Parts: sequence; structure tokens; C-alpha cells
Amino acid sequence: MPTVGWIQDSAHDRLTDSFPFVRQKPEPIACPLCGKAWADRTALLAHLGIDHPMRRPLLRVGTRVGLDGYELRTPFTPADIEVISATACRVSTNGRNEVLVAPEQLPAFVLNAGNATHSIKLLNSRAEDDREAMASIEVRVAIPQAETLANIDELFVHHLAHDRITIRMVDEFRRSVTPESSAADYLGALADYAVGVLTKEQRQVSGAHLPFSQFTGKFQSARRCLVDFSRPVATAVVALIDFNLNNFSRSQPAGFPELQNAHHFYCTLTGAGKTQRPVQSGNIVTVAACPVDAVTAAIWEALKLFPEFPGCDEPSPQLPATHDLPLSEFDIAKLRALKAGAALLLGKQMFARDQLRALRHDARFGKWAEYHLEAPALS
Ligand SMILES: [Zn+2]
Repeated sequence: MPTVGWIQDSAHDRLTDSFPFVRQKPEPIACPLCGKAWADRTALLAHLGIDHPMRRPLLRVGTRVGLDGYELRTPFTPADIEVISATACRVSTNGRNEVLVAPEQLPAFVLNAGNATHSIKLLNSRAEDDREAMASIEVRVAIPQAETLANIDELFVHHLAHDRITIRMVDEFRRSVTPESSAADYLGALADYAVGVLTKEQRQVSGAHLPFSQFTGKFQSARRCLVDFSRPVATAVVALIDFNLNNFSRSQPAGFPELQNAHHFYCTLTGAGKTQRPVQSGNIVTVAACPVDAVTAAIWEALKLFPEFPGCDEPSPQLPATHDLPLSEFDIAKLRALKAGAALLLGKQMFARDQLRALRHDARFGKWAEYHLEAPALS
């Protein structure tokens, strides 16, 4: 009926007049991490994913960070271990059941466990959007007794610090001691270095059986372990390996003047700049603590007589003392740099230019070669 309808309309009108309909705008949501406002939860979640991606949790051990595995071979303090971006941590030690460890307690946990292997799961989770990042990290603590290491060093010098070593001598060194398992790596690394020297020299009588190309692998695996130890024998072997692989450094351990001088000399040839005479201190013939491969020894001998050493004007990279030895790419570069440096100092421009040209694309000596090739005297 019209009358009733009219009454109803009027009631509806009165209601909407007093409570006008407003299209409800949702309350903006502030990002809990940066405070920026977002229209709704979907927009906030998208923002969290894009602008605040979940960080993968990391572990720092000493100066290394973000690796999947760490070996601790020397005494450490809790400050050497740091958990980064983790909200929780689970640890299984020596294959036992996992336990929960608060991330900030992990350094002390690892320290107190002594020599052990830990499988660590670091979790970084966020309640705001239920995201989670995880990292699985293996930490092996194997710290040998100082007396065991001293004994191994002594045996290494006794068995292997000789001019002509053989595989038999390396085996005798290996068998001369059965160290606790934590020191086995150290013994193995020193043996690997000796095998690397034999592999590099390829002398039939030495009993070496690996192909020449494998000497770098032996050196690198030895270096990975020995670099952790600041003991005279270990640091000398690491410096020898670095010299062999053309990783020259001015900060070489004292006590091995020949090795130190050789590193210094080649350091001056790895950047653009003038060529200098090598500094010679003392007249020591070998690094008393370790076997040195014959090519390296020949380079040191030449450095003593630099710039007028035998073979300094032979166009091939060989020296008279290395004629029957295979040369690595690193040796060839070192020998050419040695000859080019000598020629520059002696004013033999043509000869220097040929050697420098061969070094143009070398990772270590390229810059130095370019510098001299562009100098007015040679160009
Ligand atoms: Zn934000």
C-alpha cells in the first residue's frame, strides 16, 4: 500500500540521514621493519618480500664468513665465532641428536665441546610474513697438541729438508709417526707439499708417479691446511707454495731470507713501475726447513747474480739449471720477468721487449710489462 510504503521510505531516509553511508577505506598497515604504510596486508607482504628479503643466516669464523664448512685447527676464543642473522640454531655434535642452542650461545657451545664435528642449522624466521631462511654449516674443531705438531715438524725436517727427495722418503715421513686424528691433516699437508715438489720435478729416480699437471692440486690442498698454522715450517711451506703459484706478497715470514727476497723482488714486478734490483741479505742457499723444487732454487740462484746471471740473454724462458726440468706456466712467467728485468737494467732493449711482449697478458706481470713496453725507450 502506498501509505505504508511512504512511511517505510521515510524511516529509511531518516536512518541514512543520521548515519550517512561512507565507503570504508581500510586502515593502512605500517611495515614493522621500516614503518612505511601499506594499503592492505597483500601489499605489505609483497613489500616485505621485495624490500626486506630474508637474509640467509651466516656464520663467521675468524676472518671467514658465509661458508658452508669451517675447520678450526688452532686454539680460538668465543669472539672468533659469530652468528649473523639467525633467530634459532640447532646443533648435532659428532652425529648425535640435534639440540637447540641459542644463536648467541653457539660460540661458547663449540668452544666447550673441544675437538668435535658439529652439523649446525641456522634459522632466520620472521613472524610478520612467516618467511624463513636456513643455512646448514659444518664446523670441525680439530686442534692438535702443540707437542705433536713440534714432533711432526722435526720429522719433516729430518726426512724431507734435503736437496733430492724421493717418494720413499715421503712415505717414511708419513709412517714415522701416528698422530692423534686432529694432527693427521697437518702431517698429510706437509707430505702433500713434498709430493707436489716431486710431481713438479718429474724426476724418474724419485719414484713420483703423478702427472706434472697435478702438482698445483697437491700444493693447493697442502696450503689449505697449513695456512691455519703460524709455525715456522708451516709458514715457510705456505710461502714456498705462494711463490710457486705466483702469489707474491711483501709480508713473508722472517727467518727465510732467500724466500723473502724472492717474494720482494717479484712484488716489484707485479705493478706498473720502475724495475729495481733485488735486495740481498745474507747468502743462505736453501730454506733449511723444507725441500724446495729445483726450478724455484734455480730462480733464487739467478736472483743472487741478478742482473748478470747465466742464461740471462737466452731467448727461451729456461735457465741452464732448468734445462731438463718441466716448467709450469707460473715458472715461465717468473723466468721471463726475471730476464726482462735484467735486460732493462743492462740496457738490452730489444731483448727486454721480446720477453715483455710474452708477458703482456700475464695475470701478475701484465701491467708491469705494459708499463715498460709503452716507455719511450722501448716503444
Ligand atoms: Zn618495510
